[in-house]
Amino acid sequence: MVNIKWDELGFDYIKTPYRYISYWKDGKWDEGRLTEDNTITINEGSTCLHYGQECFEGLKAYRRKDGKINLFRPDRNSQRLNKSAERLLMPEVPEEKFIEALKQVVNANEEYVPPYGTGATLYLRPYLIGVGPNIGVHPAPEYIFSIFCMPVGPYFKGGMTPTNFIVSEYDRAAPRGTGAAKVGGNYASSLLPGHEAHERKFSDCIYLDPETHTKIEEVGSANFFGITKDNQFITPKSPSILPSITKYSLLELAKEFGMEAIEGDVFIDHLDDFAEAGACGTAAVISPIGGIQNGDKFHVFYSETETGPVTQKLYDRLTGIQFGDEQGPAGWQVEV
Ligand SMILES: *Cc1c(COP(=O)(O)O)cnc(C)c1O
Repeated sequence: MVNIKWDELGFDYIKTPYRYISYWKDGKWDEGRLTEDNTITINEGSTCLHYGQECFEGLKAYRRKDGKINLFRPDRNSQRLNKSAERLLMPEVPEEKFIEALKQVVNANEEYVPPYGTGATLYLRPYLIGVGPNIGVHPAPEYIFSIFCMPVGPYFKGGMTPTNFIVSEYDRAAPRGTGAAKVGGNYASSLLPGHEAHERKFSDCIYLDPETHTKIEEVGSANFFGITKDNQFITPKSPSILPSITKYSLLELAKEFGMEAIEGDVFIDHLDDFAEAGACGTAAVISPIGGIQNGDKFHVFYSETETGPVTQKLYDRLTGIQFGDEQGPAGWQVEV
């Protein structure tokens, strides 16, 4: 047995024994294999190093009560990786190859999948990079697709306790840029805004829409949702936000609860419409938002210390499905 304090895990790199790696060359993928080597050696001219030709995914493996392991909607991660790849002129990773590789990595590192009941999970990080000799701004001659993994606890230190966020002066992505693609470049440009938010003791920053700066787009690297005072579930609709699989899952679960669930505008000047608000994503799961600092105004939603009842209900249902305690909609739970 591995010696890990499952209850004390944060969101930090841990070297697990095996990762999957596959090379694309001359128009096709090789078979791919597991390796114990957690380093990669690439040409100094690789486009991923200079021109940001890189995209990634993030998903989790969940230990069920019966000891078996589930993935949550991995087909959606595969489809989104391929959308990101298309945007950056990278080759498609076939869905079958993607899901098979995920299963290989989980099985090979099975001891590192946290026990049921700890709330911890095995985080999987697939990524696709342009490599090979190059110097001009062109798509790379070769590509690497890899998946590594590590056990993780909560992403935000507070877990399910509310935290506060601050509206950023920076834009995350351009209106017709790469906001909807899960690419490294979006994150490089988010480091400074995130750092400034942390320095002011906020969990992260809130990005407004880059075109008008009147509507909420993203909460750091998670999507925003709000529960209105008349019990609607609302999440922003915009071509420059990252289409979160957690967000689309919550939209469906809210409908299950009989709520009206809509993608629409969330105006930063109309936060009074909301009884509760949260950030959602694979890493964050659901993190309740206590309050939002916007200029010199601080708006509190439900409470700065307690989670609202609708947010709690959505969290329980979502994690119930992810850990296999409850039956989810068809295709959401994929046994490894
Ligand atoms: C990955 C990501 C999310 C969350 O997406 P999930 O599919 O729910 O994990 C939200 N925003 C950004 C910017 C992301 O990169």
